[in-house]
Amino acid sequence: MKKTLKDMDFKGKKVLVRVDFNVPLKDGKVTDTTRIKAALPTIEYLIREEAKVLLISHLGRPGGEVKEDLRMDPAAKELANLLNKEVKKADDSIGEDVKNAADNLKNGEVLLLENSRFHAGEKANDPEYAKALASLADLYVNDAFGAAHRAHATTVGVTEYLPSAAGFLMQKELNALGEVMENPERPFVAIMGGAKVSDKIDVIKNLIKKVDYLIVGGGIANTFLLAKGYEVGDSLVEEDKVELAKELMEEAEKIGVDIVIPEDVVIADDFAEDAESRIVKSDQIPAGWQALDSGGTESLKKYKEIIKNAKTVIWNGPLGVFEMEKFAHGTIELAKALAESDAHSVIGGGDSAAAINIAGVADKMSHISTGGGASLMFFEGKELPGVAALDDVE
Ligand code: ADP
Ligand code: MG
Repeated sequence: MKKTLKDMDFKGKKVLVRVDFNVPLKDGKVTDTTRIKAALPTIEYLIREEAKVLLISHLGRPGGEVKEDLRMDPAAKELANLLNKEVKKADDSIGEDVKNAADNLKNGEVLLLENSRFHAGEKANDPEYAKALASLADLYVNDAFGAAHRAHATTVGVTEYLPSAAGFLMQKELNALGEVMENPERPFVAIMGGAKVSDKIDVIKNLIKKVDYLIVGGGIANTFLLAKGYEVGDSLVEEDKVELAKELMEEAEKIGVDIVIPEDVVIADDFAEDAESRIVKSDQIPAGWQALDSGGTESLKKYKEIIKNAKTVIWNGPLGVFEMEKFAHGTIELAKALAESDAHSVIGGGDSAAAINIAGVADKMSHISTGGGASLMFFEGKELPGVAALDDVE
């Protein structure tokens, strides 16, 4: 058991909080505040407990140098709005000026440090950078579930030098994902979609041992169709993963797990919104055409039947190129079916969460994870470095 906020005394203490403010920006404005909102329970708790709150996050990929358009100022502004309170902002994450700003904080005040990835030491998990960060504070809290799969200075390195605990969002994510992986009510169904088999192999390998049904859709289904000996035309495939797909299907059959690959698919003559499209049986994809949505009529019927009887469903990866309305049908219908079912539903993955929002059923899901890569690593059955590094309850 990892320490949580309730295990620490914060009054008058400088607390370095790793948050996930890796938010989408456009023209210097935050376009989606979901991640900032998700960190509010921890931040508000620390304010109430009269801590001096130092927040740190990465934002985008500045590559270890200062990038003006990746400063945290827009996030600070958004946070101040949401807290209805002043949020101070530092122009670096370490150094004399930052140290002074931290030392000058009064109880209950909030200071957002600059983008951690402006320092190469962040991604390199450099002890010098971690030490410099740690020297700003008395305690460390990690609330950035979305970054917990990375062993960086702000997620792992810093824990060497400060007493540490998990924040409320981190705790909520670990509980929600842990519950389905450890104690799923059955039938337990996993739906895996998305573009690349290589991203999802370890997840599929781990889930096969746990689920009753594994629905494979989206781009990754094409590689499984190829493994079955079907022609897939110009569809996105990973030739070098065909053998592996075969092995996975054989293993699943051996242990009595149903890998459900699409019976029919929506194909298009071009990867474009205005392409010509139609539904065909999965073994009838003509040369020159590509499968862009695995939610054909028969496939969807089958998915809905499985979901209707399911007690637990985890979903990672859209069933089609949902960014184009023409190929979003399968994904949207699946989201709606999930919303109507009584199953406990857990969604992982940024694009999957976006698709759930487009379908307008976010409030019907049991849990939508704020971490894409982190939730995948969790479904792989691996321990997240940013979690492992936190102090255990004695
Ligand atoms: P998540 O972010 O939920 O983990 P992924 O990033 O793995 O999901 O996959 C999302 C991407 O997969 C989307 O951009 C979508 O367009 C793409 N995709 C889904 N189905 C197909 C397909 N049949 N062909 C090509 N790309 C696909
Ligand atoms: Mg994605």
